[in-house]
Amino acid sequence: MSALQITAIALCFTIPLLGWVLLFRQAFRFYRLFTSGSADPTRTDQPATRTVTLLREFLGHTRMSRLPIVSIAHWFTALSFLILFATLVNAFFQLIWADFRLPIIGHFPPFEWLIETFAWGGFIGIIVLIVIRQRAHPRSADGDHGRRSRFYGSTWWQAYYVEFTILAVTICILLLRTLEAALLSHTAPGENLALHFPLTLWLSGIWSGLSVAWIEQAIYLVAMIKILVSFAWMITISLQPTMGVAWHRFLAFFNIWFKRNADGRPALGAVPPMRAEDGSVLTTEALEEMEELPRLGVGSSEDFTWKQLLDFTTCTECGRCQSQCPAWNTDKPLSPKMLVMTLRDHAHAKAPWALASEEVRAGLPEHTRALAEVPLVGATGYDPSAPLSAYDALGPSAVVDADVLWSCTTCGACVEQCPVDIEHVDAIVDLRRHQTLIESAFPSELGGLFKNMESKGNPWGMSPKARLDWAKDLPFPVRQLGQEVESLDQVDYLFWVGCAGAYEDRAKKTSRAVAELLDTAGVTFAVLGNGESCTGDSARRAGNELLFQALAQQNVETLNEAGATRIIVTCAHCFNTLKNEYPQLGGDYEVLHHTQVLNQLVRDKRLVPVARPDESVGMSTAKNPASTAPAVTYHDPCYLGRHNQVYAPPRELIGSLPGVELREMPRHGEKSFCCGAGGARMWMEEKLGTRINVNRTEEALATGAERIAVGCPFCRVMLSDGVTAAQQEGRAEEVEVVDVAQMLLAAVNRGRAVEEVVVEEAVVDETVVENAGVDEAEVDEPVAPVAAPAAERAPAVAAPATPAAQQPDAADEVADPWDDEPDAAPAPAAQAKAEPAAAAPAPTDVADPWDDDEPAATPASAAKTEPAAAPAHTEVADPWDDDESSATPTPAAKAEPAPTAPATAEVADPWDD
Ligand code: SF4
Ligand code: SF4
Repeated sequence: MSALQITAIALCFTIPLLGWVLLFRQAFRFYRLFTSGSADPTRTDQPATRTVTLLREFLGHTRMSRLPIVSIAHWFTALSFLILFATLVNAFFQLIWADFRLPIIGHFPPFEWLIETFAWGGFIGIIVLIVIRQRAHPRSADGDHGRRSRFYGSTWWQAYYVEFTILAVTICILLLRTLEAALLSHTAPGENLALHFPLTLWLSGIWSGLSVAWIEQAIYLVAMIKILVSFAWMITISLQPTMGVAWHRFLAFFNIWFKRNADGRPALGAVPPMRAEDGSVLTTEALEEMEELPRLGVGSSEDFTWKQLLDFTTCTECGRCQSQCPAWNTDKPLSPKMLVMTLRDHAHAKAPWALASEEVRAGLPEHTRALAEVPLVGATGYDPSAPLSAYDALGPSAVVDADVLWSCTTCGACVEQCPVDIEHVDAIVDLRRHQTLIESAFPSELGGLFKNMESKGNPWGMSPKARLDWAKDLPFPVRQLGQEVESLDQVDYLFWVGCAGAYEDRAKKTSRAVAELLDTAGVTFAVLGNGESCTGDSARRAGNELLFQALAQQNVETLNEAGATRIIVTCAHCFNTLKNEYPQLGGDYEVLHHTQVLNQLVRDKRLVPVARPDESVGMSTAKNPASTAPAVTYHDPCYLGRHNQVYAPPRELIGSLPGVELREMPRHGEKSFCCGAGGARMWMEEKLGTRINVNRTEEALATGAERIAVGCPFCRVMLSDGVTAAQQEGRAEEVEVVDVAQMLLAAVNRGRAVEEVVVEEAVVDETVVENAGVDEAEVDEPVAPVAAPAAERAPAVAAPATPAAQQPDAADEVADPWDDEPDAAPAPAAQAKAEPAAAAPAPTDVADPWDDDEPAATPASAAKTEPAAAPAHTEVADPWDDDESSATPTPAAKAEPAPTAPATAEVADPWDD
């Protein structure tokens, strides 16, 4: 034996032992830490499905597929980590016998091909990942100190060390393969080397000048380096439990298997119920029966569930979540990545104290005992110019700044993005629960929100009696359960109007459009009227779980008593809560978003959209300029899209509108950017950074579309405010934010008018129709649903004088739902006078049900609604209100300095690798 060989054997048979000991010690520590967390009994159902999900996500890298280059490169490095373990075992034996091959498979060509493929794959893959990390380095990224880089705030030395290890190990494997080929060429000259070394033989010529003895020495050396590099890595990570960039190679398998949804869906949609330490659900009743108040939410790291502690430890610091976070991208302190990293670092630093007995704790170092006193949420002394100052795993003031916690819109982009299935939103809501229920430490604006929801059942504090005002000027009766309708069996759907749909002026237009479209299609529905109260979405996401439960229980009771089975909603937040959260309280319904129902009605040809006026002979082109918009962009509401995967129906609806082009924003679908209203942010001032709604609006405006279509009243308010801000700068004058339903109604109403003209002409000259061979049924079919309800239009809810006047009897007299500009108009009367002039070509100026400012159309509604909204302004800053005449500056107005470059240019696009 040479000195080199002796040294190699001595080092490689001692250091790895230390590595294994330390690794198992750390694995045991992980186990103790995770099991010290609160119980979560929901993570082990459907084991077979979970296993399939794990295999699919790992082998298919499905959670990374949106970054295809990264995904392919990571796929090779991840699989090579497992497959090339065989070469590590082989290397130990090569220290003794240089020509050693694993028994049975060592010379089996397919095995050798596999090894060579993944050796090259891992080598090239890690180079690609190194290049990507360098390209995305903060030094060349936008934002202060490069904060638009997804790696901003990641632990660099750890990433570099892992990259170096993989690079070094794969180089060693490739060198060993070439040396093995060179050795074999000497010891077995007749061997078919190309068969055994298909991808490395071409390189083995570099050793052609070496004798057998020197080749063997080279094998000892390279095998030793390979082993030592591998076990140095093992020792390093065993001493660094917070090195997620390395530990995820082991922990990700567990984290994926134990994810919330066994079938692989991300942890979005419902917020899980609040649980006690033992995992039991904490309902209001359960709390009343308890003698001692349990912990509510998460107030210290020990309160997190074992799964949440596993989550934090699994984070790879890849920053995909950060790159998509609307809060981070608008310069707020919240980064989901840094939140997870900091909670992880804190939990592990505190573990010696958390896992120790009282006696042992007394003997712990002072700095460890001090961690027990550090609150998770508080004031860290955050400096906006230094975002990392909002995070301090070791305290002393707090682990994360309160502004981090309250900046979250619960949009779910982080959860959707995370390749290892970390569930950020649930952790954030748990932290908020403790702050709200135990500490009473929440943004002051939420106090008014909670009070209004508690006392009036809606965020505005409006009278429940006004819940049906939205329907007052409709040309057909809207039936209310318990009055015009005795049982929901009598109708097709329950129409859940929602607080916004009932009280907010812009959202009321959506409610009316949906009602009119349903009526046109002959779909029957009833509403609950003042039997409805807020679903509690905002209360739950603001951490007020008890208020949510009170509201939800009341609603579930009402719905169950009414026998509700099929519910239509227009609000994405109501949709999510009714569909996904009410089952937690015994309310199981088929809940449909209005875009889903309307899309089906269009497919069934029960609603027939017709081309814009300028493309439709006989239609007015002067009545409403809004209806001539040739291009529309669609904003995905987070609670419809990411949380519930409803992406296609609204787009199909827009696609069904003749002559309308859908222009997608760069961030759409799964990677859509939040409007800024979710997570109860709708009700909070946006004091930090730039405004999320302005960021999103700029992206929409950059498409050049003149209509921004939405499917949620929250989005509508936020984007309308964004457009208002742009218009105050003299931009986007022609741009309007509208609900998809309104666009459809405009197109359908044109068709109705055309059909009515056709029918009238047919009545005048029946012979012409017969001679033309027109099937009467074909002519009448689209008209029938309109004609039938028209006869019944003695209004139950609607104002008595309007319906007759509103019956459109000519194409150019159709009330056009595009015409919803009055909201921001400071002088309704003046505008009402001005409009007839603009509408001059119309022979008779029909009262426009969408026009809130038409004095004759909605006097009662206006009178009741506007004063009632006032308390919301005084108690809670009301972001719904973008009335230009308001004395209070609107949030949008405050945003004026914020708009910079279009959002797409402003945000580093991690998709573009
Ligand atoms: S839910 Fe949205 S706002 Fe909240 S941390 Fe995740 S990405 Fe950011
Ligand atoms: S996406 Fe997941 S793994 Fe990546 S930084 Fe965020 S939390 Fe960590």
